[in-house]
Amino acid sequence: MTPNPIRVADNNLWPFRLADGGVLLIDAGWEPEGNLYAWGGIEAQAEALGFAAARDVRVVVVTHEHIDHAGLAARWAREGARIVGARAAMGALAAGLEGLRAQRHERAAELARQGAPAEVVAGLLGTRTTQQRWEPCPLDAIGAAEESGPWALADGRTLRLVLAPGHTPGNLVAAVEGPDGLDLCSGDTLLPTTIPTPGLHFPHALEGDATRWPSLPPFLRSVAALRALPLTRVLPGHGEVVDNPARLFAQFEAHHARRGRRVRAALAAAQTATAFEVTRAVFPRLPTVRIGQAMTETIGHLDVLAEVGAARAEAIDDSPRVMWRWCGTA
Ligand SMILES: [Zn+2]
Repeated sequence: MTPNPIRVADNNLWPFRLADGGVLLIDAGWEPEGNLYAWGGIEAQAEALGFAAARDVRVVVVTHEHIDHAGLAARWAREGARIVGARAAMGALAAGLEGLRAQRHERAAELARQGAPAEVVAGLLGTRTTQQRWEPCPLDAIGAAEESGPWALADGRTLRLVLAPGHTPGNLVAAVEGPDGLDLCSGDTLLPTTIPTPGLHFPHALEGDATRWPSLPPFLRSVAALRALPLTRVLPGHGEVVDNPARLFAQFEAHHARRGRRVRAALAAAQTATAFEVTRAVFPRLPTVRIGQAMTETIGHLDVLAEVGAARAEAIDDSPRVMWRWCGTA
């Protein structure tokens, strides 16, 4: 049987009935851009699926610390649900919108350091409205995924959480295993119609520490580990159920192999360059509005090269800029 999600805008919330009563929900959902009726929509959909959102949902697992997956965590907690997230996500869940603002600020500053022109940085800072809501979730309502589960489900299957850092530092997925196969609630780790972004992450931004967490190297390792599982279906955080998981893995890997080769070739040709210059070399005609996103992926692939010793990020005297130096063999 194809499982039915609760939908909030284009986010999927996946409900599972627990063997000892109640419901476990994968992802909290959110209130998209000032939509205060999202909770009512969740209640109505839950009712259609045969349970009461506020009364029956005992556990809400947050796949990662992004507003569209975690925005309603505090609301669920107030209704009596236990919130579960990876330890690395807990700070962001407890900070809510303030944490998102700090990330956004650091991201813009990082793109400037990595050579983005002022109009690219200004465009990034100006794209969001102040309408977003993300209520901080009390820390004592959150349990660490590392110490939670597995859960026995009413249909005899077992749900367990698997840390999968990459899309964010506190990213996880849920594996649901039964006699008929293994389903993966993938959050944004694998998506049916797009390649998920590695992002630019500053896990300690709120404490005033702007150290960036290199995300693509762990992201590639997490996806490689998931590929080794005998998956039957993927239940993604956005979009439809995928019955052929091998296709998602193949697309993900082909995309990053191709992008990685181009970034490598561009830096090897330049010898030293900013991440912006590498991005421009790889995508000479990319419109300005898409440069920030493309730079994020370029930086990810430069991080991959740095990890194997083929590239090095260097500070320049008297400049906040970061230069990347090629130190590999052609
Ligand atoms: Zn998402």
